[in-house]
Amino acid sequence: MKKWLLLGIALYSANLAAFPRANPVPGGIALVPLAPASGQPPIVQYAGSRVTVMPIDNQWMALVGIPLDAEAGTQSLRLQNGATVNFQVKAKQYKTQRINIKDKNKVNPDDESSQRIVRELAIQKQIKAHFTEGAATLDFIKPAPGRDTGRFGLRRVINDQPRNPHSGMDIAAAKGTPVKVAAAGRVLYTGDFFFSGNAVYVDHGAGVISMYAHLSAIDVAVGDAVQQGEVIGKVGSTGRATGPHLHWSVYLNGEAVDPALFLPNKK
Ligand SMILES: [Zn+2]
Repeated sequence: MKKWLLLGIALYSANLAAFPRANPVPGGIALVPLAPASGQPPIVQYAGSRVTVMPIDNQWMALVGIPLDAEAGTQSLRLQNGATVNFQVKAKQYKTQRINIKDKNKVNPDDESSQRIVRELAIQKQIKAHFTEGAATLDFIKPAPGRDTGRFGLRRVINDQPRNPHSGMDIAAAKGTPVKVAAAGRVLYTGDFFFSGNAVYVDHGAGVISMYAHLSAIDVAVGDAVQQGEVIGKVGSTGRATGPHLHWSVYLNGEAVDPALFLPNKK
């Protein structure tokens, strides 16, 4: 009897944690209802990229990652049969964060570094847009304990120069702190990047990708299956970083979205 009760509670809470919160702003997520869920999920594209589609309450739902530079107003999804489904994006102003980086080459890269950056951006663009057919795993945990020191979307001014907005969540943690994968999946890529430093990308299926950067050590290899909470590396300050911390990104349809939307709301 007790066992069944516990199982019921476990299933209920798993259900609650199973989907990100919608926040249809630039850098947020739009949940767009498509059709009653039966058979195969519809194939949906947004700005030329495949979109994550999941059944929610017997309805196929598109989980759209809205680019940070998206315009507010009406946006469209394109279905395989040519039909379009509209959704609304609301405006959002992100705050500015000023940081100082000691390594000047990480702020104003020399020619050799610039060439490396261009190569790496192309690789990262491809990884972020990876789409594996099947269901997505959307039950997420925070990958390391610690204070949020850099929220997603902050407009960055580095050494007094404007740079790209912040594409993830920064979590303060000491060097060597274990980094736990946010959700079950498969290691898609590991590498050493000019800005991200040692980084691990994990594929959670159906276009949901997470990324962990500035690591001092990587403990997994490409192709490894990982369970939620499994240690994939250690906190560090490799790449462009002011000090040891974990940079955590989540991508939907190749676009970085606010990872906080995948965690229980603290407010
Ligand atoms: Zn960061």
